[in-house]
Order: sequence, then structure tokens, then C-alpha cells
Amino acid sequence: MQVSNFRESDRLTALDRYDILDTPPEEAFDRITRLTRNVFDMPMSVISLIDGHRQWFKSRQGFEACETGRDTALCNYTIRETGPLVIRDTLADPLYCEHPAVIGEPHVRFYAGVPLRVAGGHAIGTLCTFDSVPRAFTSDQAAMLEDFASIVLSELELRTLLMEDSLTGALSRRALRDEAKRASALAVRHGHNFSLVMFDLDHFKAINDNNGHHVGDRVLKACVRAVQDTLRKADSIGRVGGEEFAILLPHTNREDAMVVAEKVREAIANVTVQGKQRLIPVSASFGIATLDRNACDIDELLRRADTAMYEAKQSGRNRCVEWQAREVAPSNLRRVFKAGHISFNGGQSTIDCTVRGLSEVGASLDVLSTKDIPERFKLSIPIDHLSRACHILDKRERHIEIAFD
Ligand code: GH3
Ligand code: MG
Ligand code: MG
Repeated sequence: MQVSNFRESDRLTALDRYDILDTPPEEAFDRITRLTRNVFDMPMSVISLIDGHRQWFKSRQGFEACETGRDTALCNYTIRETGPLVIRDTLADPLYCEHPAVIGEPHVRFYAGVPLRVAGGHAIGTLCTFDSVPRAFTSDQAAMLEDFASIVLSELELRTLLMEDSLTGALSRRALRDEAKRASALAVRHGHNFSLVMFDLDHFKAINDNNGHHVGDRVLKACVRAVQDTLRKADSIGRVGGEEFAILLPHTNREDAMVVAEKVREAIANVTVQGKQRLIPVSASFGIATLDRNACDIDELLRRADTAMYEAKQSGRNRCVEWQAREVAPSNLRRVFKAGHISFNGGQSTIDCTVRGLSEVGASLDVLSTKDIPERFKLSIPIDHLSRACHILDKRERHIEIAFD
């Protein structure tokens, strides 16, 4: 038990090194899943990464959901294998016939997956292909799938060197983090100001749905161009998620950061992209945080900007909100990446989570949905042998901040 916990914790650390969860789709990976699907003539193929509480798909073909619970993932078995896992008929196999992905959506009857084993030997996810009917799969085909998985691994390594987001030309998330670390450390050392602005485009899903994905892409590019035209040379913008960006503002205090954010907000609201019937209305919601004595590391600053951005969304969108100290919010959480469990109903109900931030007094957790989680519960983190009663301070759709009782 303990040994596997240790392995699991190292596995999550290995996954963290790629900083890839919740990043935008990338052609290099989509090409491989398309090829996999076509070569084997299968309806579905995905690149699945196994987070603490979920599997998240970097690329998917023939499959709608962008993530599922880890307990409902056949890929969760594959990462324990040394070679390919091939299940020709799930219903004929006692190990898999009652699996949630078999008896429920997407009703997998055939499955072939290869673990994505990175340096150090940890499997961070899989390349897999599956069908809703039983299929034959030769050892030659399994070997070919292994070759495709090796290409995924090469792309993962190449990606860590990429500084730019290929669609918009903004910094990649990794490059932005590196730059933010460098710039904030410099600001702390020399006593300069440093601010960070996060923004997320409003109702972007509707833009895609109403006009098509390629028009959504045009909107993303136009927004980044508008922001770049507004910023000074020393400022930088990075793409941190699908339609979520961060701006670094060296030598900028709180008041000035609000002024910049307001200018950027206006620039985005003035972006014009022609939709199917009319010009598409574009706007974004902004969160602003400034380096201070209590937030002198970049993770805390990102967390604060994100909290403020969420408030901007909640209070009506298309606006800028500055982070405000709230007594309840836990601060100075250490950035961690650990699997955890939330339990309530006297231990009868359990929900998996990933612990992203941790301190003596509280934690910050990601879950698939916060809908069924009560105000008070027990959090356990097996790797730390921690089991603590706690209560919720702040709750969003997929994220909660907690304090220990
Ligand atoms: P909100 O105002 O609350 O932010 O709503 P929203 O619709 O913007 O947020 P949601 O998270 O529901 O949807 C974000 C959408 O962005 C879903 C996803 O398909 C889309 N998206 C992510 N990356 C890309 C991309 O690279 N190109 C395009 N066209 N769409 C993308
Ligand atoms: Mg959005
Ligand atoms: Mg978003």
C-alpha cells in the first residue's frame, strides 16, 4: 500500500513536469489520435493523462467529454501495465465486464491502450483506441500502437521546449510560468512592483457553438493581437488554458495594473470578428493581483488573480476585479500535486480529488464537480498519512478551498 502510494506520488510529480493538464488542443497530438483511429479503423481514440482524481484528454477523436472520473477510466488499468493492454471483448472478461465505462457511456466493448511511460519509468497516461463492438487485434497491431505511443512521448518532450502557443503566438503556459518566476523574484530582490492579470473570454463556448471552432480560433488570435497592441514592451502575455490568459506587468503597482487591465478589457471588447450572421460580441473577465509581503511567490499570485477573475465572472463578466484579502481565504499554500479523498456521510460517500495547494491550516482541491460535496467533510491524503476534518471556505464548479477544523 505504502509503496504504491509513493509510486503514485512520484507519478504525479512526473506528470506535473509536463505542465499539460487543461492546456488547449494541439495539432501534433490530434494528428496522432486521428492516425490511430484511421489506421485501426476504430471509431474512438484518445490521449488520456491520469491526474489525481480524473483522466483528462489532451486529444480525442470520436469522443465528446474532455475528462472523466479516474474510477471510470479503463486507462487507469493501462498505466499499471508494462506493455499494451488489449481487451478484445470487455463483456467476456470478468475483470472488466462490470466496469463503468463498459456498462455505461461510452459502452466500451473493445479496448487497446499503451501506457505513456516517461523518463524514470512513470506512466503519466495512455494512448488508446476503442470501439463499442468486440474486435480482433493482432500482435503486429499492438506493436504499431506502441510505436504511435512513442511518437506521443516524443511530442510531449518537444512540447516542453516550446516557448510559444502555436495558435495565438502568446507565450506557452510553461514559458509564462518561467518568465513570471524570474520577473517576480527580481521584483522581490530589488523591491520593485510586480502585478499579474488573468483573464478568461466570456461565453466562449457559445461563440464556438454558434460560429464554428475555426471562427473561435480567429477570435482567440484577434484577442491576443489586441492585447499585445495595448501592452508595453516589457509586459508579456501567455495562454494558460483554452480561452484563458495571463499578463505579467513588471514595475507596475496595484493602481496602474487596474488601469492596464481596464485598457485591455476595452481592447478586447472592441475586437471585431465576423460571425455567421453578424459581428461577434467579444468580452473577457479580469482578475488582478499584485506582489506584496504575503504573496511573494508566483503560485500565490496566480491563485489570487484567479480568485479575483472568478469574482469578475460571478458579478456579471466583462469587468476587472482586483484581489481583496478575505479573512477566510487560506493563503501561502504550497503548490503540491497529490491524490486525495473527500469523505462524508460517516465515510459512506467518497469523492476523489487532487490537492493542488496545501498549508498547515488549509488546502485547495480540484474535483470533477463540487455539486454533491457538503460544507463539512473529511479530507485524506494517503501519501502524507493525513486525515483531517475540514470545512469549505470557497466553492466553485470544480474547485474548493478548505480550512482544517
Ligand atoms: P465563461 O464566460 O463562464 O468563461 O463561459 P465559457 O463558455 O467561456 O467557458 P467554458 O469553459 O464553458 O467554455 C470554454 C470553451 O473554450 C470550451 C472549449 O471547447 C473552448 N476552447 C478551448 N480551447 C479552444 C481552442 O483552442 N479553440 C477554440 N475555438 N475553442 C477552444
Ligand atoms: Mg470563458
Ligand atoms: Mg475558461
